[in-house]
Amino acid sequence: MSYSYSIITVDDSSTMRRIIKNTLQKLGFSNILEAEHGVEALEVLSKNEVDIIITDWNMPEMDGLTFVKTLRLDPKYVDIPILMVTTEAAKEDILTALKNGVNNYVVKPFTPEILQEKVFKLLDIS
Ligand SMILES: [Mg+2]
Repeated sequence: MSYSYSIITVDDSSTMRRIIKNTLQKLGFSNILEAEHGVEALEVLSKNEVDIIITDWNMPEMDGLTFVKTLRLDPKYVDIPILMVTTEAAKEDILTALKNGVNNYVVKPFTPEILQEKVFKLLDIS
């Protein structure tokens, strides 16, 4: 399978970005953008259309929650599905993320199958 969807993975850990990118590539996605934090991601998004955003929570410059809030206030980005990949697994943190516009979340460490399930669901791939 190959998919033409464009995906951005936002994480300050290059290792985590590589894991996510490799997993997505194995699933058939080839159009994958990267950013180290929210500020860089906004810069990338201003120049590229993406179909789904996969973002970390804890990052320098602009953390994932602030990034999500910023996106949801902008009509250009209000409808883009956002998957948060986080170590913040406390129920209240998850609720905070969802309340602020995250569509779904994956708790680190995660399996390729979990990432696939959540990404496919948000892109409506069956
Ligand atoms: Mg981080």
